[in-house]
Amino acid sequence: HAPKTFRDLLEISRFHGENVFLIYEDERISYEEHFRRAATLARRLVDDYGVRKGDRVALAMRNYPEWVVSFSAILAAGAVAVPLNAWWTGQELAYGLTDSGARLLIADAERAERLKDEEAAQVPMIVARGPGANLDEVMGEVRADVTLPPVELGPDDPATIFYTSGTTGRPKGALGTHRNLGQAPMTVAYAMMRATALAGKDPAEAASVRRVTLLAVPLFHVTGCFAVLITTIFSGGGLALMYKWDPERALQTIEREKVTVLTGVPTNAWQLLSHPAFGRYDISSLTSISYGGAPAPPRLLERITELLPDRTPSNGYGMTETTALAIYNAGKDYAARPDSIGLPLAVTDVRICDPLGDELPTGEVGELCMRGPIVISGYWNRPEATAETFVNGWLHTGDLARVDEEGFVYIVDRAKDMVIRGGENVYCAEVEAALFEHPGVDDAAVIGIPHDELGEEVGAVVRRAPGSDVSAAELQDFLRGRVAAFKVPGTFWFLDEELPRNPGGKILKTVLRRRVLAS
Ligand code: ATP
Ligand code: MG
Repeated sequence: HAPKTFRDLLEISRFHGENVFLIYEDERISYEEHFRRAATLARRLVDDYGVRKGDRVALAMRNYPEWVVSFSAILAAGAVAVPLNAWWTGQELAYGLTDSGARLLIADAERAERLKDEEAAQVPMIVARGPGANLDEVMGEVRADVTLPPVELGPDDPATIFYTSGTTGRPKGALGTHRNLGQAPMTVAYAMMRATALAGKDPAEAASVRRVTLLAVPLFHVTGCFAVLITTIFSGGGLALMYKWDPERALQTIEREKVTVLTGVPTNAWQLLSHPAFGRYDISSLTSISYGGAPAPPRLLERITELLPDRTPSNGYGMTETTALAIYNAGKDYAARPDSIGLPLAVTDVRICDPLGDELPTGEVGELCMRGPIVISGYWNRPEATAETFVNGWLHTGDLARVDEEGFVYIVDRAKDMVIRGGENVYCAEVEAALFEHPGVDDAAVIGIPHDELGEEVGAVVRRAPGSDVSAAELQDFLRGRVAAFKVPGTFWFLDEELPRNPGGKILKTVLRRRVLAS
C-alpha cells in the first residue's frame, strides 16, 4: 500500500524510533526526533504564521537537515511545499516565489541574503540555518507528546510544486499530489528489489543490511526528494547529506558512515571513480551505485564494472513530471544493454508517438509518452504548457525514444536537441556517446549551429582529458568509423573549463551555444 498522504508516512516513520535518519557532518537526527521537530514546526506554521491547507510555502536551502524538517512540516500542515533551486540568483528565487504565490518562505541565511533586494519577493520569511539563525528558536520547545496539527487531507490534494530543471526553457512548476508522492517510494522499492535480483544477490541478505544512502544531488529536484528522501523514510534507512557535491568528501563519507547506496547523476559517479584518492578509502560497504536524470555514457558502466565488479550499477530515467523514477535498468539487463534506460516500472505505461500523438509501431523512433499514478496532472499556473504536454492523460516527455521487441526503452535524444542538417536528423546524444569512447575526451556536448546552406550544421564542444592534445581532425576520423558521415561535426571547440551543467547534471546547451558562437 502506498501512504494516502504524506502525514501517514510521517506517522508511520515514528516506528523507526531512535534509528538514525539524517546524517550531516557530525549532526544526527533520529526518526523520532525528526517526527517531533516536523510536528512542532507544522504547529508553528499553522498557529503563528497562519498557514492553511493549500497555501504554498517555499523552501530555499542547501541540503541541510533543516530542509527535510521544513519540507515535512509544510506537508504535515496541509500546505504545498515549493522547493526552490538553491543555485538560483536573487532574481530567479523571486520568480519562484511570485510564480508559486508563496505566502511564506523558509530559507537558509545565504538565500535570505540573496533575496533582500528583491522587491517582488517580500513574503514573510523564516531563516532556518546560518549565522545567527536557528530553526530551534523558531520551533520553541519540542515536546515528546507533540501531535500533527489537525487537517483534513486526501490523496488528490496538492502536495508539492517542483520546478523543472529549465534545460529547454524557463523552469515550469510541476504540481504533484499526495498520491503522486506516495507512489514514488513504491516504484523505487520495486526497482531496488529488481536490481538485487538481477545482480544475482540474495534478497534476504540484502534486506538484512541497514540501508544508508549518500545523496549526491540537491533535495530541490525530484531525484533527491522523491527517489531518495521519501524512499529513505519508507525504508527506515539513513540518509547522508552533503552541503555540496565533492568526490573526495563523498569517499570519506562512504567510509565513515558505511554508506550502502550512492545516488546521483552520472557525473557524480564518474567523478568519484576517476578521483585520484579513489583507492585510499574503504568503500566496501557500498553495494549499489544508482544514477539517472541525464544520459549515462556507456563508458561509465564499463568503469564501474572494472573498478567495482561486485556492485550493482543502475540507470534510472525520470522527470519532474513523473515524481522521479519511471523507467529503470540494472544488473544483467543493464550489462546486456548499456545504452538502454531499461524497462518501464509496473506503474508506468509507455508508448511512442508520432507528432500527431498516434502510436508508432515497435522499434520506430518517436516521442516517449507516459501515463500512470506517478505522472502529475499538470503545471502550476501554466494552462497552455499543461494542455500541450498532458494530452488525454498521456504525458508527452519531449524525449525521442524507441522501444525494442522485449520492451526495453532507448532514449535517442531530446526533441529540442536534435539537429536537422540539410534535412537529415542528427541526434546529438548519439554523437556525444561516440565522442565519449575516445580516451582523449573528458566531456563533450554536440550542438546545432546556424548554417547558410544546410540550415543547421553539427558542432562539438570538447573538454580534453588531462594530458590529451587530441585534435579536431583526429576526432573527426575517429567518429567516421562510428557514425554516418553527415553526423560528424564540422566544427569543434575545445574548452579548458568544465562544461556548464545544471544541478540535474545536464549540460546547459543554450549557455554553451552562446559562449562558443561568441568566441
Ligand atoms: P525543462 O523541462 O525545464 O527543460 P528538464 O527536462 O531537464 O528541464 P527534468 O524534469 O529535471 O527537467 O529532467 C527530465 C529530463 O531529463 C528528461 O526529459 C530526459 O531528457 C532527461 N533524463 C532523465 N533521466 C535520464 C536518463 N536516465 N537518461 C537520459 N536522459 C534522462
Ligand atoms: Mg523537461
